[in-house]
Amino acid sequence: MDFAKVQDLVKIHGTPTLFLSESRLRESYRTLKAALPGVVLYYALKSNASPEIVSILDSEDSSFDICTNGEIEILKSANISADRTIHTHPIKRDSDIRFALDYGVKIFVADNEDELLKFLPYKDKLKILIRMSIQNPGCLVNLSHKFGVAPERTWDLIRKADDLGLSVAGISFHAGSQNESPMKYIEALEYCRDICTKAALRGIDIQIIDIGGGFPINYITSVLPMAKFCRPINEYLERYFTNYTIIAEPGRVISGPCMTLAAKIMGRSLRNGVWWYYLDEGLYGSFSGKMYDHADYPMISGRSGRRHNSVLAGPTCDSIDVLYENISLPLMEIGDLLVFNSMGAYTTASASNFNGFPKAKIVVVD
Ligand SMILES: *Cc1c(COP(=O)(O)O)cnc(C)c1O
Repeated sequence: MDFAKVQDLVKIHGTPTLFLSESRLRESYRTLKAALPGVVLYYALKSNASPEIVSILDSEDSSFDICTNGEIEILKSANISADRTIHTHPIKRDSDIRFALDYGVKIFVADNEDELLKFLPYKDKLKILIRMSIQNPGCLVNLSHKFGVAPERTWDLIRKADDLGLSVAGISFHAGSQNESPMKYIEALEYCRDICTKAALRGIDIQIIDIGGGFPINYITSVLPMAKFCRPINEYLERYFTNYTIIAEPGRVISGPCMTLAAKIMGRSLRNGVWWYYLDEGLYGSFSGKMYDHADYPMISGRSGRRHNSVLAGPTCDSIDVLYENISLPLMEIGDLLVFNSMGAYTTASASNFNGFPKAKIVVVD
């Protein structure tokens, strides 16, 4: 969103505010849908579970990827049927499984034998995807560090599940979040191909390939447009997986671009020759993604002129709450507006009200 537009909106809504562009959200969803024809999209609620986003995606007919009872509650309050959901947390308590089954979820994920055993009492009510780990250390967020069974061991786990009498519906993976290389998906799909061949020989009916999330968006640096990014993935799917149901769990690529943060400078101080500016939003708020998600958001200011070595800090009394050090900024005044784009994913989702600063409000525009 451009500066002038946000300036007008701030006159009405104040700061800190996250402006949610409904049209931008719909556009992201439709762009990915078009880039991955035939792939069922389960929006990963983890990236941003705001009810406004859920309801807009509901009207786009999106499906949903949920991990917790809390996320199920959000879908229930939006009257979304469990038929449009999958449960993808690889580690669950028995009570979590029952809660999801009561809601009506039918597809769950496991990545180890202990987790398979937890499903035994409910084996007629559910199907399982086996989560394979795909290492991506070069990626912003490597989601296979904590979960997933090694590709070489995935087939063994599928066979184990089948021996236990569980119904294995397919294979899932997450190629890493803000993953800039489509070849990571191909690498994972190569493993899937091999596993599917083995499964077919043993009469195990693999129906679903879940290619996860990870699709990248523009932050400070731009990434490939989605159509181009997805082209090699589509080609591979068309060549080898035409008889399978292909699903994906996109989070960031859908929720990321649609939110713009407006924040204001609430104080400043010249300390040892460096201008310190204190914003009304910080690391404990929407900028929590700087900490947890390692994201760097594009910033726009309305000032120009000679630049000074500056620091941008958040509002709380904690010293860790510093957003940018050693940045060069024109001289800013108290009350100046700063605008940050691409702030929809892993921002408000992990924000807190630490130190008595409430989370930034969300206002739907466009
Ligand atoms: C976080 C997560 C996603 C969403 O990942 P993005 O990189 O935001 O697209 C999808 N699936 C699972 C299992 C996740 O943990």
